[in-house]
Amino acid sequence: MSPTASGNGSSSGNDKKDFQPLSGRHGPHLNSRNPYQPLPDFLSNVNSFKIIESTLREGEQFANAFFDTAKKIEIAKALDDFGVDYIELTSPAASEQSRLDCEAICKLGLKAKILTHIRCHMDDARIAVQTGVDGVDVVIGTSSFLREHSHGKDMDYIHKTAIEVIEFVKSHNIEIRFSSEDSFRSELVDLLSIYRTVDQIGVNRVGIADTVGCASPRQVYDLIRTLRGVVSCDIETHFHNDTGCAVANAYCALEAGATHIDTSVLGIGERNGITPLGGLVARMIVADREYVTSKYKLHKLRDLENLVAEAVEVNIPFNNYITGFCAFTHKAGIHAKAILANPSTYEIINPADFGITRYVHFASRLTGWNAIKSRVEQLDLDMTDAQCKECTAKVKQLADVRPLNVDDVDSIIRQYHFNIKTGNDQPLLKGIDHPAPGIQEAADDGEPAAKRLRTELDQDAAKCC
Ligand SMILES: [Zn+2]
Repeated sequence: MSPTASGNGSSSGNDKKDFQPLSGRHGPHLNSRNPYQPLPDFLSNVNSFKIIESTLREGEQFANAFFDTAKKIEIAKALDDFGVDYIELTSPAASEQSRLDCEAICKLGLKAKILTHIRCHMDDARIAVQTGVDGVDVVIGTSSFLREHSHGKDMDYIHKTAIEVIEFVKSHNIEIRFSSEDSFRSELVDLLSIYRTVDQIGVNRVGIADTVGCASPRQVYDLIRTLRGVVSCDIETHFHNDTGCAVANAYCALEAGATHIDTSVLGIGERNGITPLGGLVARMIVADREYVTSKYKLHKLRDLENLVAEAVEVNIPFNNYITGFCAFTHKAGIHAKAILANPSTYEIINPADFGITRYVHFASRLTGWNAIKSRVEQLDLDMTDAQCKECTAKVKQLADVRPLNVDDVDSIIRQYHFNIKTGNDQPLLKGIDHPAPGIQEAADDGEPAAKRLRTELDQDAAKCC
């Protein structure tokens, strides 16, 4: 496999020849008159959230993940460079190498705070506080499923152990978060009771975790808003993506008063993972562009995703947030026309914020004359609007027969231009001006005829260039 975060840039090896990069036309993408703009809300933290990046903890639970020490350090440095607030690491109690890696990353002197994620157990806590981490994330299952089938403890035991572990970690002057596991299938009264207890003894954060990915945005909003009224500490949230709600749930959690969101690069994690870093950033830049662009080095996102994709041997999905190969590609003629006039017509995110280029696809039967006109200008040819429209009709004729690439379209344009400048009214594009027999044959005959037509095009283009 050859993972690549995007075909949208010159550095990618992806074949993107059919698309036309545009530049210098970045308009205002965030319309201040948007009637759906959120109203001021005293609960909402969409303008002041923090990211707890868990690629090196949750991500290590991804089926394909195996990070050696060097790779962990490389990923930790890249996350730090991107600007995440926290980096969460696998429990040092998991294995001897995990402990050594945790210590090594703590010694890097990164700007991001280093956390490790442990079970709510004194044995794990004793190991964790010796690694040099800035904080410990403690977790215990509170749902009846986990209490009965996982650790087998009741709520009294959970209260007692939580207090013991929290006070021990606090005595080492490092941050402590207490989280339930499978929060959305836990009894509300149990949750609020344990969170109130740990808040009163001084945890920095409580955590809500949708461990099985069952929560909907509305359920998230209701639970976080209720919790916000019970505790005074920060609220961290962790959303799995089993039903496709991980980004929406994170956003709703912030609207309801959560302060921290767990992410991983490309969303890698247990099963199909958690809120992806790129997806969260895409959502949040629409909510508050100034906050997001001032905090995070967005142009590093693609390299960061490529680094992790390569490490876990996956490809970047075609429809990935921001970096998917067609995330900023416009094809239909009516879209292309509007995008060429003002990109904010069909884009809510400006690709330039991420160092990514916008493309207009101009080699299909859907191509409009505005896209062809733009290409004519790029080729530095002189054609009127009427001529661009006639030339577009020729592009459409051939595009109805077979897939085109940028060279095909450039050939048609150049030939058309040659004809009008020389007064030559001969149909240079044999089989295009008179498509019926030849083109039909190409369509039926498949590759050889199509290749022949292409060769004619190339030869004719060569003549007029
Ligand atoms: Zn998880």
